[in-house]
Amino acid sequence: MTPTLPPEQQAPEAQRARRLLRLSWVLALLVLAVMWGGVIEGLRQRQSLLSAQQQTQQAEWLRLSSAAVDDRLRNLYKELQLFANDQPSLARDATQLFPLQGGSLWLVDASQQQQLRGQQQALSAAAALQVRQWLQSPAVHPALTVLPLPVIDKRPGNSELLQVVLPLCELERCHSALTGFLRVSELLDPEQLVDHPAYAVLDINGSVLASNGSMDFNGDNLTQVATTRLGQVPLLLAANYRSSQIIRSFNLFALSLLGVALVLSCLLLLMMWRISQILLHVEHSSNQFNHAQQLLALTNSSLREKMRTLIDEQRDQQTLIETVQVGVLIVDASELSILTSNDAAARMLGMSRQMLQRQTLPALFHNPQRCEELLAVLQEQQIVTDREAQLNNHNHKVCWSMTSMRYLQFRERHAIAVSLIDITERIAHAQRLQDEKQATERALAQLQATQHELYQRATLDDLTGLANRRHFLSFAGKALERARLADDTVAVALIDLDHFKNINDRYGHAAGDAALQHFASNLRAALPDSAMAGRMGGEEFALLLPDTSLGEAHAIVDVLRNGIAAQSFHTDGQQLQLTFSAGVAASRNGHAHDLSELLKLADKALYRAKANGRNCVESSAP
Ligand code: GH3
Ligand code: MG
Ligand code: MG
Repeated sequence: MTPTLPPEQQAPEAQRARRLLRLSWVLALLVLAVMWGGVIEGLRQRQSLLSAQQQTQQAEWLRLSSAAVDDRLRNLYKELQLFANDQPSLARDATQLFPLQGGSLWLVDASQQQQLRGQQQALSAAAALQVRQWLQSPAVHPALTVLPLPVIDKRPGNSELLQVVLPLCELERCHSALTGFLRVSELLDPEQLVDHPAYAVLDINGSVLASNGSMDFNGDNLTQVATTRLGQVPLLLAANYRSSQIIRSFNLFALSLLGVALVLSCLLLLMMWRISQILLHVEHSSNQFNHAQQLLALTNSSLREKMRTLIDEQRDQQTLIETVQVGVLIVDASELSILTSNDAAARMLGMSRQMLQRQTLPALFHNPQRCEELLAVLQEQQIVTDREAQLNNHNHKVCWSMTSMRYLQFRERHAIAVSLIDITERIAHAQRLQDEKQATERALAQLQATQHELYQRATLDDLTGLANRRHFLSFAGKALERARLADDTVAVALIDLDHFKNINDRYGHAAGDAALQHFASNLRAALPDSAMAGRMGGEEFALLLPDTSLGEAHAIVDVLRNGIAAQSFHTDGQQLQLTFSAGVAASRNGHAHDLSELLKLADKALYRAKANGRNCVESSAP
């Protein structure tokens, strides 16, 4: 049972139930009061009715009883008169005198008292005296008299015994009396004693002479009992007679009425108890229902508020997702299913958002292995930032994405936010740039090759690979200038092959070319790295020997000459032998010589070498 709530917090049904309960109890108590009032009134009326019947019965009983008593007393009187007149038979058994108690019969005279018969109820001296006084009184009634003898009877007023006295008189003087006792019950018929009435014999002053002891008759309650005067005897008979039949009838009626009233009361109380239970249950249920409704209303409003907040948040999230140009996927963290996406993501992947939401994250990757790598990074570092990944575009286009991931709570689920930046164009552009770079590099290499070739063609002699005349002169001029500034010595040598025309003439021009190549090859091999050789034209060559004195240059060229002369070479099945003549000149230390001057000096020396018989080296005069 829940505690009683204040009325303002109770449900209307509960309040109605409580009012109904109070009303029911008031009605029930009213019904009980009316019913019991009716019962009491019924009993009262019944009792008054029965009382009237009782009084009638009582009067009837008294009438009959008094007649019987009167009749018996009269008979007794006659008997006693006969007894008194029959002196000789005084000894007759007093027990034959009906209804003298115990058969005692006393003769009382003024002088003596004599017990005629019987042993019981001896007359006391005081009683005998009283009888004598009574006998001596001239006003004594000549008839049978009943005396009150409280002294004789040890139970005055309650004794069942009546003392009867019969005066024995001659003329108008009584000389003695017969006296004895009789039991009042024996004055009545046995039928009249069936209902055990209370009754008494009184004198005409209302003093009780004898009674059956079941009621205390006195002057006050005589009005409550019926009285009758006994015929010739100046006595009153008082009785309180109640018919057992009437009592039984009343008792039965009262019991039935009380029983019915009690049963009805019990039923009513039982019904009220049940109604109380039901109404209390209704009240309790209503209060509970009301409480539950209030709780529900509170919960509902709270839920609605939460829902509204949630929806607003979701709308904000969704708006944010849809607003950004970056593709956004919200993915369930455990199942990797797509929970939501924006249009940018759908465009990137070439499918509708509805179709996208039926996919899983790995299925979007061109290589699912790449997806697993990114998820592993996410799990380890809680964030993935700007990782390139190729995605599956539904329209079979190549699609590259700069992918980032992070965890978030979405619609109260553990989710992953995946952002996709479309870098397909950037990747393609980079690829194009790479291609262009490679093409450019190739073109540059080609250009360099061409330039190198052109340079070589411009600077080198085609047949021998040595510097051509122009390049040699240019290079040598610059070297000479540097040597002059550095105050170094530079040597030059001019070499001319001996009788070369004969080789052409004898072995052909190709053999002459081969001879020129052979010579150039030996020349390159013999010269120091700092030296430079050039073909000046035909079978004439020049050498530049930086930081070399004239003597050193002479020696170098002479070694070369010896080497060439000492060897032969083969071409086209022919063994050939070459010699050359050379003229060497050198710049003097600290003195400026220009190249043409030096070459002239070398040419003069060459001339001398030719003139000296060839296959020799001549130096210019200092
Ligand atoms: P000398 O000993 O006096 O120098 O006699 P020589 O024959 O070498 O000189 P000459 O000037 O008379 O002849 C040079 C020859 O070299 C003439 C020419 O045919 C030949 N010659 C010039 N250039 C080339 C070439 O590139 N290849 C070939 N095979 N021969 C060439
Ligand atoms: Mg020549
Ligand atoms: Mg020559």
